[in-house]
Amino acid sequence: MDTNAKIYGDLEKILVTREQIAKAVKDMGRQLTQDFAGKEPVMICILKGASVFFTDLIREIDLPLTTEFMAVSSYGSSTKSTGVVKIVKDLDKPVTGRDVVLVEDIVDSGMTLSYLKKVFANREAASVSIVTLLDKPARRRVDLQVQYSCFNIPDAFVVGYGLDYDEKYRNLPDIGVLHPRIYTK
Ligand code: 5GP
Repeated sequence: MDTNAKIYGDLEKILVTREQIAKAVKDMGRQLTQDFAGKEPVMICILKGASVFFTDLIREIDLPLTTEFMAVSSYGSSTKSTGVVKIVKDLDKPVTGRDVVLVEDIVDSGMTLSYLKKVFANREAASVSIVTLLDKPARRRVDLQVQYSCFNIPDAFVVGYGLDYDEKYRNLPDIGVLHPRIYTK
């Protein structure tokens, strides 16, 4: 653990290693290649948290596909989400009739994705699927079906591999639990 030694010092522990992530992303790519065979999905990266996962994942999918980027903000404190979602950056092209795959970093209460699913249903996508790197099922507040999840994790605030606290830690190659002293000071 000598790389990123300064930021690793802010972690309580490592939860998912880069090796575990790489394997899970490969497996997920293979699964999506199978499940979307014969289709041309539009993969939608939910910025910024999913950006690292997204760029790794799409290279593991052996299908013709297109990519889009969307940014949403949820109002609330930086370690808890409120479910009130605002689209800060929308897609470049319409998704009418397309098989939409929403790629998210983490599902917590489920409010963000539940809102986005409705948005894409209203836009008349042919289908809307959800792929998440991490899932915290214990925190779910809405009934949301997550078809594709790489890791279920306990209720803790995590950073790394794209996930931030106050815009930092996205560059950690592993996923770790942020030490509470960082956000309670
Ligand atoms: P939800 O709407 O499911 O409650 O929240 C999803 C969003 O909350 C995620 O996209 C992410 O931005 C944020 N979030 C939830 N839990 C965590 C966490 O443990 N770490 C980080 N960095 N963000 C989180």
